[in-house]
Amino acid sequence: MSIAAEKPMTASPTTQGVAPTETDTAKLHRCLNCSAPLSHTFVDLGTSPLCESYLSTDQLEGPEPFYPLKVLLCPECLLVQLPAYVSGEHIFSEYAYFSSFSDSYLSHAAKNVSAIVERFGLNLNSFVVEVASNDGYLLRNFVGRQIPCLGIEPAANVARAAENRGIPTLVKFFGEQTAKHVVKEFRSADVLIANNVAAHVPDLHDFMRGIKTLIAANGVAVIEIQYLLRLIERNQFDTIYHEHFCYYTLTSLSRVLASEGLTVFDAEEIQTHGGSLRVYAKHAENAGRVIEPRVETMLANERDAGLTTVEGHDGFAESVTEVKRALLEFLIAAKRAGKTVAGYGAPGKGNTLLNYCGIRQDFIDFTVDRNPYKHGKFLPGTRIPVFAPEKIAEAKPDYVLILPWNIRDEIATQLAYIRDWGAKFVVPIPKLEIF
Ligand SMILES: [Zn+2]
Repeated sequence: MSIAAEKPMTASPTTQGVAPTETDTAKLHRCLNCSAPLSHTFVDLGTSPLCESYLSTDQLEGPEPFYPLKVLLCPECLLVQLPAYVSGEHIFSEYAYFSSFSDSYLSHAAKNVSAIVERFGLNLNSFVVEVASNDGYLLRNFVGRQIPCLGIEPAANVARAAENRGIPTLVKFFGEQTAKHVVKEFRSADVLIANNVAAHVPDLHDFMRGIKTLIAANGVAVIEIQYLLRLIERNQFDTIYHEHFCYYTLTSLSRVLASEGLTVFDAEEIQTHGGSLRVYAKHAENAGRVIEPRVETMLANERDAGLTTVEGHDGFAESVTEVKRALLEFLIAAKRAGKTVAGYGAPGKGNTLLNYCGIRQDFIDFTVDRNPYKHGKFLPGTRIPVFAPEKIAEAKPDYVLILPWNIRDEIATQLAYIRDWGAKFVVPIPKLEIF
């Protein structure tokens, strides 16, 4: 399986991002949800290039655009957000890499579909819409059951792949206008699915109004997003990147949905992306669906964790700095002792980590990845070369730094042979571990 073990949270830009215009700059300082001035810093990771913009050899001679990775907290509605320093069209117009889902992610999608079909009694007369449907990895499960469905996917090349697999797909960004178009040309949706996309939309309200417009009177929206509570608890600051504008709790997402007339009636935690939230929403005026008690339980957990106050978010920045200190301390000691260190994996999250820590070839000779698209390329910003995994056996480094911590055990098993020459694994997150 690919080391991209989950649906990628980011698209690979094939065009360079452009700096925001002056009018945009004013918007950067206002909350995406409530427009309050953003005065409170959640965490400042310095500046970084777009985390999926791998460089070819000839690009090494040129400059790279770096953008701030300063995450802010709205003091009014408590939405944690990264201002849109790079415009969405530039980030999402085409994926350079897709269909990378592992067997485990595909089976996650299949199970999710079975549960949705059963719970909401979907049949041949239903209509399901998925936003950011990618190559149809999820909708194919509805097609297989002959339940009418439609994907909405902005990346034309990815949408084409879905169409080729028999999954009807509209090439569009999702928002109110697209929703109106779908209702007119098709019909209202009984179920709308939005997995790992609500964090990526710079116009939050247009997106939520799209959901409100598209779901039928008794329709539901099923939304999966990375869960801020776990991101904080597990120190996953490396999942912060420019493509990822919002970092939600159930509290903050419920507020955003409520402001567009949608009510959360159920929520659960799932294990994808290091800890995610699956939220079920309905029209606020739909009294037919009761609110499940676990919604209140999860909101109470967030209160207990301090995430309903500004101050409750304050410890995170220091924990992040501590990860940096510990990793650099290890690398400095290893290099002074004459040891060699290689990376494993070239995921977007690795690029946030390495740029934030300022780790280049002075510490890590190279990294390896199973994705052939990345071979012969260089990591954005840090310019560490990427090779095929065989390079590890050839170079025999003393340490292998695992960058995709979410699949650390799988990697440690695959690379068990590094013990033959006495090498060890290093994982920096949630805290430095050498094993
Ligand atoms: Zn706000």
